[in-house]
Amino acid sequence: MLLISILLQYIMQKTLKVLVDKRIIILSIFGVSTYLIVSHFNISLWYVILFGVVLGVVFGKVFCRWICPMGLVMEMLMNLSPDGKVKQMYQYHKMGCPIAWVSGWLNKFSIFRIKLNTETCKSCNICDKQCYIVAMEPVKYSLYKPNLEKPGDSYTCSKCLKCVVACPNGSLEYKV
Ligand code: SF4
Ligand code: SF4
Repeated sequence: MLLISILLQYIMQKTLKVLVDKRIIILSIFGVSTYLIVSHFNISLWYVILFGVVLGVVFGKVFCRWICPMGLVMEMLMNLSPDGKVKQMYQYHKMGCPIAWVSGWLNKFSIFRIKLNTETCKSCNICDKQCYIVAMEPVKYSLYKPNLEKPGDSYTCSKCLKCVVACPNGSLEYKV
């Protein structure tokens, strides 16, 4: 039983790493599809907001970086000017739109959250180096330092999940 659980955890970690590595492709597919579906069927923006909020309840602020057409455009623009990209990313996910406001607030309460296993964490700091929220406010946020706030719970976390896949010990998990 223990072996199956370890195997499942390993497969999930590997799958998550592939998804995070290919996130821009996933965002491109979902972003363009969302735009085409909404414009073709003339779907009210309220339904899109509702969809983003329901996703927020389950996964936190995932809409912006994984599905949103506007998120795709913004990310492409930010990639054109690599200077200050961390700051731009931080500001973009801070301002956002109605979906970002609500789902960002839901980061604190969503069903899936970024959780730290303090037993296995080696305090190597690799996760913090991946996070633009920590980069912008290192005295306030850390994924592992106990006396600081968790960036994954903050309004600005857009669930890029780079921190989770970067941890060499599997001490960070995105789970219920
Ligand atoms: S990368 Fe993993 S082991 Fe290193 S500090 Fe972060 S949570 Fe701890
Ligand atoms: S998912 Fe992790 S690395 Fe990405 S913004 Fe949130 S806390 Fe930072």
